[in-house]
Parts: sequence; structure tokens; C-alpha cells
Amino acid sequence: MGTGGKSIGAVPALTLLLSFMACAQAPSQVPGRTITMAGNPYYNESDSTPLDLPDSVWRKVLDPEVYHIAREKGTERAFTGALWDHEGIGRYHCAACGNMLFLADSKFASGCGWPSFYRTEREGSVRYAEDRSHGMVRTEVLCGRCGGHLGHVFDDGPPPTGKRYCMNSAVLRFRPQATAPEPPR
Ligand SMILES: [Zn+2]
Repeated sequence: MGTGGKSIGAVPALTLLLSFMACAQAPSQVPGRTITMAGNPYYNESDSTPLDLPDSVWRKVLDPEVYHIAREKGTERAFTGALWDHEGIGRYHCAACGNMLFLADSKFASGCGWPSFYRTEREGSVRYAEDRSHGMVRTEVLCGRCGGHLGHVFDDGPPPTGKRYCMNSAVLRFRPQATAPEPPR
């Protein structure tokens, strides 16, 4: 009893699911107009003016995972982030402040389990610091706008730069390239 009703109901349910998936698979159709983030008044994808805010402020506006990596220099586990093998045409912004960091065409498959790029979007996109933690000497990469920790840069990347910017997915926000010109501001 009731099996007939279930099979009839399954058809519209499947149709709904398929149309939902079709929408979800077309992010490149969304114009890149979203430059702010709800709950974070400091996030702005078109502003590179440096921010100098204390951790107490960031703690209120960032997701705990973003806060942990950006402000406490955390590292997500390899192969767990959302963007390590992500492909798509667009831009990668700082998830804390919106600063543009990398263009998708500089992303490459490093196999290391973190999103990797061979150059930054522009000089000044990021800052560098020496990191002597964990018994190693590494070059830390910080957001050029908010100073948040992003990851490290190594000298084993591909041409033309030979650099491998090894970043944490959680502190990156991918913005698909707009298919229409952005509105004038
Ligand atoms: Zn930032």
C-alpha cells in the first residue's frame, strides 16, 4: 500500500532535482557584481585600501574556520579544502577582506592538496614574512590588504615564475568571471 503513490511522486521530485542541479552548475552565468559579504562590512572586492583591524574585530565578522587560518595562521588539511582542485575562469579573492589575490589562469595542478598559483594578480596583492615555525624556514604569504595569513610560497612552481603559492582554500573566495560588463560605479 502506498507504493503506487510513491512512484508517481518520484517523477516531479526528480524533475525538481534536475532543474536545481542545472542551476547549480551554471555559476559562470552569474555576473560578478557581488562585491560585499553579509555580516562582514570590511569585505569589498573592488577596494584594495589597506585595513588595519585588531583580531577582536575580525573574530566578530569571520567564519571560525576563516578566522583560524587568517588570524591564527592555521592550515587546513591537504585535499580537504573546497578549491584545491577547483577549475573555472575567474578570480580568487581574500575571504576575509575581498582583496583580489589571484587570477584563475595562474592556478595549476600542483598535486599538493592545496590550491596553488604561480603568480599573484598584481604586485601588492600579497605581502611576505619569514616563518620559522615547525622547525622550517618558509616564506609566509599574507593578504596585501588585511594582513590575513593565506599560506606559503615555495620555489618549486612551474614557469614562468617558478613559484608555487600554496594557499588555504578557506581563505580564498572564487568569483566566476562576469559574462556581462560590470555596471559603472
Ligand atoms: Zn584580506
